Amino acid sequence: MREFGYERVYDVSGALALLGTDPEARFLGGGTNLVDLMKAGVERPALLVDVQELPLDAIEFTPDGGLRIGATVTNSDLAAHPEVRRHYPALAQALLAGASGQLRNMATVGGNLLQRTRCGYFSDLAKPCNKRVPGSGCPAIAGEHHNHAILGASEHCVATHPSDMAVALAAFDAVISYETAGGPGELPIAEFYAPVGGTPHIETALPPGALITGVTLPPAPVAAHSRYRKVRERASYAFAVGSIAAALDVRDGTVAEVRLAFGAVASRPWRARAAERALTGGPASAEAYAAAADAELAAAEALPENGYKVTLTRNLVVAVLSELAEEAAR
Ligand SMILES: Cc1cc2nc3c(=O)[nH]c(=O)nc-3n(C[C@H](O)[C@H](O)[C@H](O)COP(=O)(O)OP(=O)(O)OC[C@H]3O[C@@H](n4cnc5c(N)ncnc54)[C@H](O)[C@@H]3O)c2cc1C
Ligand code: SF4
Repeated sequence: MREFGYERVYDVSGALALLGTDPEARFLGGGTNLVDLMKAGVERPALLVDVQELPLDAIEFTPDGGLRIGATVTNSDLAAHPEVRRHYPALAQALLAGASGQLRNMATVGGNLLQRTRCGYFSDLAKPCNKRVPGSGCPAIAGEHHNHAILGASEHCVATHPSDMAVALAAFDAVISYETAGGPGELPIAEFYAPVGGTPHIETALPPGALITGVTLPPAPVAAHSRYRKVRERASYAFAVGSIAAALDVRDGTVAEVRLAFGAVASRPWRARAAERALTGGPASAEAYAAAADAELAAAEALPENGYKVTLTRNLVVAVLSELAEEAAR
């Protein structure tokens, strides 16, 4: 591992100033992803700027009834927060489905959003990878890709984004706030993750050197009736092979409002807008859920080994929406 410096910062301006002095510096949250990548030689920062003591660890209501979550809130604290559990249960469930208790105690909201893909070629320095070394190629397409993307990928990269938390945030229209030396900014989560195209190494729309300061969830009464379901190859320490965050409001048998986002199918959490449009105003029935999933997944482009994700995601839509509708009818 390359020798590196370490600085702990206590205010946002100090963090930005330190990062600005060194193009090879990186912010350090819980370190649960960055340090692993440093050990593998994928990341080689000259300086780590530890942001964990910044005053960004609050979870509080916004004046309009939404929730503002600081960037250094740990995954454990966010999952356990009573207002998150009451108003956005799918978010708490998504967090608890990720990693392990010890990792969640360390991992932060900012770091979780920016964690890197678990594509095996990305962390193997002996292999080419367009995300790690632009222009070097994508061996996953003809190689090991059973857990790679079926939506929104390109011939340059078919990696998925590994975060469970981000899938729930996508369903709830989260807005990500950041600070740069030039001032603050915001990005809706739909614009936060960059399209893959020919530049898979550019993963977000964050300006260079930006510090994520928090995430705001707009008020969404439907989110109180939500669920996160994750399918994985073993019960713990495993990333999703498919997941869904869903929220449903049914009135007199008709879908009044629905939110759907899929995980493990794309380079970003996949908000299923076509499925939402197909369902809204129509019957709350298993047939309608399946047809809506088909409408969304019509755009899927499977590789030889990952076509199962189309069926898996379709089944998740039908199962989770059926459960939510049944619960609402009780
Ligand atoms: C064994 C294992 C299993 C896991 N399983 C899952 C799983 O099932 N589901 C899941 O979702 N995740 C899983 N994870 C990933 C885990 O959730 C992430 O590693 C964690 O959320 C990253 O948060 P962190 O604070 O530790 O980030 P760090 O490792 O500190 O940082 C990650 C990236 O974010 C940047 N960064 C951190 N904070 C900020 C900030 N405030 N502003 C700007 N940049 C910032 C860093 O520079 C770095 O590039 C697993 C991890 C491990 C090791
Ligand atoms: S899928 Fe993306 S991350 Fe994986 S090898 Fe291809 S370019 Fe690299």
